[in-house]
Amino acid sequence: MNIDLSRRGFLRLAGAGVAATSLGAMGFGDAQAAEEAHVRPFKLATTTETRNTCPYCSVACGVIMYSRGDAKAGDKAQILHIEGDADHPTNRGTLCPKGAALKDFVNAETRLTRPRYRAAGGTEWQDISWDDALTKIARALKDDRDANFVAQNEAGTTVNRWLTTGFLAASATTNETAWLTYKVVRSMGILGFDNQARV
Ligand code: SF4
Repeated sequence: MNIDLSRRGFLRLAGAGVAATSLGAMGFGDAQAAEEAHVRPFKLATTTETRNTCPYCSVACGVIMYSRGDAKAGDKAQILHIEGDADHPTNRGTLCPKGAALKDFVNAETRLTRPRYRAAGGTEWQDISWDDALTKIARALKDDRDANFVAQNEAGTTVNRWLTTGFLAASATTNETAWLTYKVVRSMGILGFDNQARV
């Protein structure tokens, strides 16, 4: 059906529509019930907010993760939504496309969630526990440091350096974590120390 409306008629009709909507919004008549019926509940209303840092690159943008599941009751948290943290000084709520897709990264079936080990010369990877992984790392560090730590150079000058092991850290951390990491690594005498931000 074609409706022939003049400009003045259109404005009059639109004005009547706005007035009816406004009256409904203020609680007049059945319009309020109809309006409430089609408004969906806010999907994040009952979620838990957790602040975190995007792990992808050295910018280290702040994110807020929204999850369901009561961890105290043994539930596994299920992340429903991730967005930029508007209070974070680095990104002020913005995220690049990679950061904006973090939810799929977190929930990906192919995501590694536990340490894996491949024996020297081997070709197969095997899952191991975090305890076993940390024990292996500590053992390897201790053996290599005991064998190669240099307390003094040839001139007899104290140098306290360990050149046969390097440490690759992440820049996507807090200042406090970065400070602590730096102190631990340097206190062992490691000089080969870097992260993705090259700082
Ligand atoms: S959101 Fe983008 S720019 Fe920010 S840390 Fe993640 S990958 Fe880097």
